[in-house]
Amino acid sequence: TTLLEFKQVSKQYGADTRALSDVNFTVREGEFVSIIGPSGAGKSTLLRCINRMIDASSGEIIFDGMNIMDFKKSELKRLRTQMGMVFQHYNLVNRLTVIENVLHGRLGYKSTLEGVLGLYSKEEKRQAYAVLKILGLEEQVYKRCDQLSGGQKQRVGIARALVQDPKMLLCDEPIASLDPNASKVIMDYLRAISTNMGITVIVNLHQVDTALKYSDRILGVNKGTIVYDGPPAKIKRDQ
Ligand code: ADP
Ligand code: ADP
Repeated sequence: TTLLEFKQVSKQYGADTRALSDVNFTVREGEFVSIIGPSGAGKSTLLRCINRMIDASSGEIIFDGMNIMDFKKSELKRLRTQMGMVFQHYNLVNRLTVIENVLHGRLGYKSTLEGVLGLYSKEEKRQAYAVLKILGLEEQVYKRCDQLSGGQKQRVGIARALVQDPKMLLCDEPIASLDPNASKVIMDYLRAISTNMGITVIVNLHQVDTALKYSDRILGVNKGTIVYDGPPAKIKRDQ
């Protein structure tokens, strides 16, 4: 079944930059999709239109049967729990601990105060520990985020998204700041989250080899349009 559909989506920044032009594609539930293309192609704009961090200028974006272009600000909060976002620079609150960052994301980042742990129920904490365990961060639960390696920080970022029980993960260049070993660990986790948990994963990548290796499907973007939409195998054959 279809989880996400773009219909004639365009994004104009100011008068002269058309970042997306009549973009059409669909993503099925549980699919692992990589968006590839040169710098400036519109990958990040595309990804951020999905959770309305950026508002598209025209077209329709249908998620789980709803046109999210019509959503009011108050509805966006709930939408974003269903689409966890993972960032290149992790976007953690560095002076808070791992578990605080994970819980903090869950309740809509409502507080940046120290000592937020007390605000959360036993059940919420239990879920946060469970997610951290899945990501191999049992030893890091009470460490401050600024004491972690890049790869560990990104795993916290993924945990923060997962604890909200999302239908989909949106990952904007999740390995662009990581070395090859840490990159592999992160991609393996994202792949496992898709395969084992049935969560749809959409990843912006500039590493084509990685995209081909991990994805069910590739969306190639160039100058704001989709120039390829198909399985990795076909790209490999054409090379
Ligand atoms: P990519 O992620 O593929 O590098 P982006 O989506 O970041 O591409 O950018 C697509 C185009 O939109 C580029 O020409 C970029 O300069 C432009 N752009 C991105 N963000 C903004 C913005 N906030 N204001 C104006 N232009 C932007
Ligand atoms: P900023 O983007 O300036 O850091 P925000 O108020 O947008 O501040 O976000 C507060 C915190 O939540 C930041 O750490 C930010 O990176 C993070 N954040 C923002 N949007 C999301 C999201 N969709 N999922 C997870 N974390 C987010």
